[in-house]
Amino acid sequence: MHFDKNKYKVWTWKHPLMLHWVLNPGLVVNELILGQRIPNVSLVEKDTRKPLAERSFVPCPHCHTLHASMKWSPQNKTAFGNWFGLYCDHCGGIIPCLRNLTSALVLLLTFPLWIAFAKGWKARWLNKQKQRFSQPPVLSVPAYNWVKEGLIFGAIMFLIMELVLPLINREGYKTVDLAVGLVIWALSGLLFGFVMKKGVFAGSRSKEPDETRQTA
Ligand SMILES: [Zn+2]
Repeated sequence: MHFDKNKYKVWTWKHPLMLHWVLNPGLVVNELILGQRIPNVSLVEKDTRKPLAERSFVPCPHCHTLHASMKWSPQNKTAFGNWFGLYCDHCGGIIPCLRNLTSALVLLLTFPLWIAFAKGWKARWLNKQKQRFSQPPVLSVPAYNWVKEGLIFGAIMFLIMELVLPLINREGYKTVDLAVGLVIWALSGLLFGFVMKKGVFAGSRSKEPDETRQTA
């Protein structure tokens, strides 16, 4: 499949964000439990006036349809549950995805437990996808409230790092540590939210028509 190299940058596993998906062990949860997947190949429009998510496209290697990557997003309720790959609603094929190394290792080690069921699970999963992708997708990024998102992230981190971990390690709680942790995670959360806004959600709003069925 050939792409317009003047219009798009081609992202494969060699791109830092994609490589991060492969290497970060924590993403095993996203991949194996939540079913969040990243395609092997993404095309990113070079014109940077839109947010990254709105100028990212996923080519289907089977029918060559160029899908807006926003088709697989929380607002379309399709960001998760993609255990077997990204479903192409044009040809019914499965778009191949990257594999996180830790999930590959988990799958390898647990192989005898699931191999007998895998075929049935995949058939049942495939059956459900047509229905899942039957609604016209929303392809614009919702307004990003970086303060709210950042504080939610900070609160989750505070809960894990300051409340759950000491409990597991049987360290007990110290008021000073909790107070310092609260401040640190609130600030880290705000920083996270701000970086997300400037990075992933950067750019102006898109008013362009549906590009989901654009064929390369
Ligand atoms: Zn397809």
